[in-house]
Amino acid sequence: MTIEEFCKSLPKLELHAHLNGSLSEKTLKELGCLDESLSEFKKFLNIINKTERTLDECFVLFNISQAVTSNKRSVYLATKSIIEEFADDNVIYLELRTTPRAEDGMSKEDYVTAVLKAIADKERDIIVKLILSINRGHDAADSQDSLYSILKMAKKYPDIIKGIDLSGNPYGGKFEEQLFRIAKENGLYTAIHCAEIRNDKEVEEILNFGPDRIGHATFLHPKYGGSQENWELYCRKIIPIECCLTSNIVCGTSRNYKEHHVQEWIKNDLPFSINEYEYASRSFDLSRNDLWSISYNAIDHSFASTEEKNLLKVKLEDWKQTNKRYF
Ligand SMILES: [Zn+2]
Repeated sequence: MTIEEFCKSLPKLELHAHLNGSLSEKTLKELGCLDESLSEFKKFLNIINKTERTLDECFVLFNISQAVTSNKRSVYLATKSIIEEFADDNVIYLELRTTPRAEDGMSKEDYVTAVLKAIADKERDIIVKLILSINRGHDAADSQDSLYSILKMAKKYPDIIKGIDLSGNPYGGKFEEQLFRIAKENGLYTAIHCAEIRNDKEVEEILNFGPDRIGHATFLHPKYGGSQENWELYCRKIIPIECCLTSNIVCGTSRNYKEHHVQEWIKNDLPFSINEYEYASRSFDLSRNDLWSISYNAIDHSFASTEEKNLLKVKLEDWKQTNKRYF
């Protein structure tokens, strides 16, 4: 079994998947994406030919996806096909995240309901949970409104809507701790995008708040532009980070796989999850057993219930047993 086959076959957990950042070219096409936008999309994903790109420019990708998911039916179809594609890749547990969006003829709750319906209608053996995001670029009134609609939906679907996230372009807006405190008090887990750019003050605020997980953490370690104080604070808090290797490279926040900050977490035995096992194995000289352990350890970082976590652990252990000759 080649390393590529091993990574594909390994049962995986995906803890950082943006609904609007996970649409494949095939799905975009099916949803009626304009040719012009499709070629823009392909250009962005072409890592080899990338010129110097800024994180700002990467939000273009989200705009392309948002343009084709502007009604309930397309949101439903997009979610269904994302779930299928993750299941095809042997993801057994998926936490999808998305910002509830109101459009003409679709309220924020309609949007979330369409996503939930797609999750309920899934035909594959994959556990899917939802993390609803607050966009940091929106004004205080809109964020407040989003929070209350998230809390309302989460009360109705507590087994699916597990957490709240702060996302959006990190060059704008800010971390409003109060919103996340209220979400936490209402039983939601918190997964917060943090240190996507260098912003020591905000990183310190987020670390002090203590979310359940941190997204990216690119500029947190001092070797990667973070402050020594924040790194020490992080080492006291020890919060699992969600790493997206390719996305960091596509967006230009990491130069290449070998220079990705996750290696500091690997070296220091700190908690992390990844979504590109093959690249990680090639870049950081990880054994097949290491790759299996990364997937296994992600179970405890997930927002699944205890029963689901136990089930996932059994699945991974069984897979290891069946495939022990490939380790
Ligand atoms: Zn993200």
